[in-house]
Amino acid sequence: MKKMPVLFLGHGNPMIALEDNELTNNLKYVGDEIINRFGKPKSILAISAHWHTRGSFVGGREYPKQIYDMYHFPKELYEVEYPVKGSIDLAKTVIEMADGRVFANNDWGIDHGVWSVLVHMFPEADIPITQLSVNGEQSPEEAFEIGKKLSNLRDEGYLIIGSGNVVHNLKNKDQNSKSGFTPTKIFDDYIHQAILNQEVSDVVNYQDHYLANYAVPTIEHFYPLIYVLGAADDDEAVVFNKEYIMNTISMTSYAFGCSCSR
Ligand code: ZN
Repeated sequence: MKKMPVLFLGHGNPMIALEDNELTNNLKYVGDEIINRFGKPKSILAISAHWHTRGSFVGGREYPKQIYDMYHFPKELYEVEYPVKGSIDLAKTVIEMADGRVFANNDWGIDHGVWSVLVHMFPEADIPITQLSVNGEQSPEEAFEIGKKLSNLRDEGYLIIGSGNVVHNLKNKDQNSKSGFTPTKIFDDYIHQAILNQEVSDVVNYQDHYLANYAVPTIEHFYPLIYVLGAADDDEAVVFNKEYIMNTISMTSYAFGCSCSR
């Protein structure tokens, strides 16, 4: 069995679920490449910004509910269905590998941080998904350690996906802008360089950057990247979807362990 890649996906505006553009085409391309080159993943462990908890939890339902955790969007968005199964086996394996740091919790399901992008990446919805929560009580180092402990999932045919945004500042957003503010680009480029140079500590210690408070006003959209870096070992990254929406959100996405960007 080939070692599965690990992905970080920028998700941004949930309306991406209904779009057909360069961003969604790239998601589809990466999904196809993974299936063609590595085989269909046994299941997906998804770490979404939108399951933000105190403590670390993993969902263990065989039929997780799809959660429409976004408000004031057009009706069509609430009609998007992504009827994936869950994976009890994956949940059990995560709990074992994480060595007492992750607990079972079936309160959540599959949130829009996951389904809004996976409808493009794996449109068949035939790969089971279990979510791991983003623990808001832990340090970036601890998130990295959890990712590292879960890295072996990749050898067992599981695909790990973090879904968030490197820069996610809704306070200063401009709904109609497609470009990025200079600070958005500066921080996004900084993280991009650190990842390409495999200087993981720059990402884990992102708070040292002078724009950290602007780019990461709250941790939940950034931490999925840190878990992913922990799981990435020393695998090289390729970048895709390096675009900005609403001025203050970076859609930049990374695939580690497969050179599967266009
Ligand atoms: Zn989000």
